[in-house]
Amino acid sequence: MTDIMGAKKAIAELRQEIERHNRLYYVEARPELSDFDFDRLLEQLIAIERQFPELVTPDSPSQRVGGTITREFPSVLHREPMLSLSNTYSLAEVEEFYSRVRKLLLFEGVAEQKMVAELKFDGVAISLLFRDGLLVRGATRGDGRQGDDITANLKTIATIPLRLDGRLVADLQGEVEVRGEVFMRKDDFERLNESRLEEDRFANPRNATAGTLKLQDSAEVARRRMCFVAYYLKGLKDESTAHFSRLELLSRLGFFTGDHYRLCQEVQDINAFIEEWAGNRWQLPYETDGVVLKLNDVRFWEKLGATAKSPRWAIAYKYPAQQARTVLHNVLFQVGRLGTITPVAELEPVLLAGSTVSRSTLHNFDEIERLGVMIHDRVIIEKSGEVIPKVVRIIPEERPADAEPILPPMHCPSCQSLLVRPENEVSYYCPNEEECPAQIKGRVLHFASRNAMDIQTLGEALVEQLVARGLVKDPGDLYFLQEPQLEKLERMGQKSAQNILRALEKSREKSYEQLLYALGIRHVGRATARELSQACPSIDALRQSSEEQLATVPDIGPVVARSIIDYFAKPSWPQLLEKLRTAGLPLCASEPREQVNRNFEGLSVLFTGGLDRYDRQAASELVFERGGRVVGSVSKKTGMVVAGHDPGSKLQKALKLGVRVVSEDEFEAML
Ligand SMILES: [Zn+2]
Repeated sequence: MTDIMGAKKAIAELRQEIERHNRLYYVEARPELSDFDFDRLLEQLIAIERQFPELVTPDSPSQRVGGTITREFPSVLHREPMLSLSNTYSLAEVEEFYSRVRKLLLFEGVAEQKMVAELKFDGVAISLLFRDGLLVRGATRGDGRQGDDITANLKTIATIPLRLDGRLVADLQGEVEVRGEVFMRKDDFERLNESRLEEDRFANPRNATAGTLKLQDSAEVARRRMCFVAYYLKGLKDESTAHFSRLELLSRLGFFTGDHYRLCQEVQDINAFIEEWAGNRWQLPYETDGVVLKLNDVRFWEKLGATAKSPRWAIAYKYPAQQARTVLHNVLFQVGRLGTITPVAELEPVLLAGSTVSRSTLHNFDEIERLGVMIHDRVIIEKSGEVIPKVVRIIPEERPADAEPILPPMHCPSCQSLLVRPENEVSYYCPNEEECPAQIKGRVLHFASRNAMDIQTLGEALVEQLVARGLVKDPGDLYFLQEPQLEKLERMGQKSAQNILRALEKSREKSYEQLLYALGIRHVGRATARELSQACPSIDALRQSSEEQLATVPDIGPVVARSIIDYFAKPSWPQLLEKLRTAGLPLCASEPREQVNRNFEGLSVLFTGGLDRYDRQAASELVFERGGRVVGSVSKKTGMVVAGHDPGSKLQKALKLGVRVVSEDEFEAML
């Protein structure tokens, strides 16, 4: 693209399309494009903007990708203090709150009292400032009066509109403030934790969110896919607009508002809402920890005022923490893939938050000391959301006479080696890296895990047997397993054996980057593996790099560099490398594809219905490679519609608009 007018037009179209898909995905939860196609749209936009940097605006979706590294976050003063709500665990206090508000309204001659009940998201509160519709600042709550300016990080969140919908701006003043909560979905949280070393994992989505917002690298923030729920809007021209209508307006302005809020008339309605969500909230894709009640009639907010810390027109009811009392029978020691010993409590089975719990991690010996826990103690365990339960405290007055101290083990429970505890570390380690069955098992399971080589048929019980029988000493051995060997294992028929071999075969198609992560080098998570695969595009280049060279790769400090050097210096490495090579695993980044024609230059293409010879993703890629782009909806501007079998309503629309429609054969001929 060479002329600026063309670029401007293309940018405007792409931005509109991207924001529309963002909304479909995050706010309406009915995506039309695959992640892959969406990324390609974004890449096209970034490519044009790079060519014409003068056309980049602060509200461009390309700004969501992040990339700015700030030195520190400047402090900002909130326009109005961000108060926190007063919390209660008692339904009686909720009723008291309701009657207090009622008295005031009656005094003012208002008979009708409506409350809005919203689910309370367990996240981090932030404030967004829009000027003439444009997002100009995003800040943390801080101490309520003054917070940190984290605009660059917040711009990476797809559910935060960078520009408010122009048609609605007429209802708003020049300056608008939106408040809400940044949170992480449970599945995104699990994915994030899976990619981190055990000792670096976050305890719950809230901690992960808080930690992520503090990152200085907004590109990393973008990768963690956080969400935003809006619950407060200030800056309407009609200041008497009720709270419920404000939530509706927020939703029309492009914000996610949590879907489940309800207008309650009587205190019974409030109780019903609280009761209903006490159980249902576990089914939501994100964590909630209570219900917030706000007076719907905003005109009385000011009259009710606030205490030093909290407004009097709202209250947060928090669901009691999911706790249970049980007995700690014994402590086992688990050996991780890097040799770390983790103490695990064996508990008297007890029902907690809908499931039976019989085990709980004690993390390390510092934690055991902090809790002061002994074997046979009565303990309180707690579960918040989906996270593994933990022992929160002991009941000292009920300690039995036969209580025994928990002593650090001398020997590895798996291989009997003498354990070591490096200075300044909280954990004990098994030093028998090469032979310890537990460590081998951990390494093989990590290799097969979802973000690594994704060999789903390879479960824990199976790997245990493979290691115990000496069939597998490292991940490379997996690729030399024979069907008869597998069939001899417990609970294994011919069919499952074949499934495993097929899954292993398929894993060879994974990328070099995934293989680097799968190797399980200490401190090399997914993000580091990505950086490494770009800096050293083959395993040979990587293992020949010096510590100094490695330390120049972005995100890699001296500790990680040292750990990589140590990994390749292990005596067992040449053997493993040989096996991986023979097995045909990706030991270098794939070659860039050869040049193809530009037959789709500037053409926007829409696919509808199924194709016989291509899947949607492959077909889209072919179009992109040839200079075209793929869109998700038909308009007059659509260049071409490819109609497969059973096309949807988009075909009719295309015909009505007079857009060119081609068959799969014609499409293939164009390629
Ligand atoms: Zn061991």
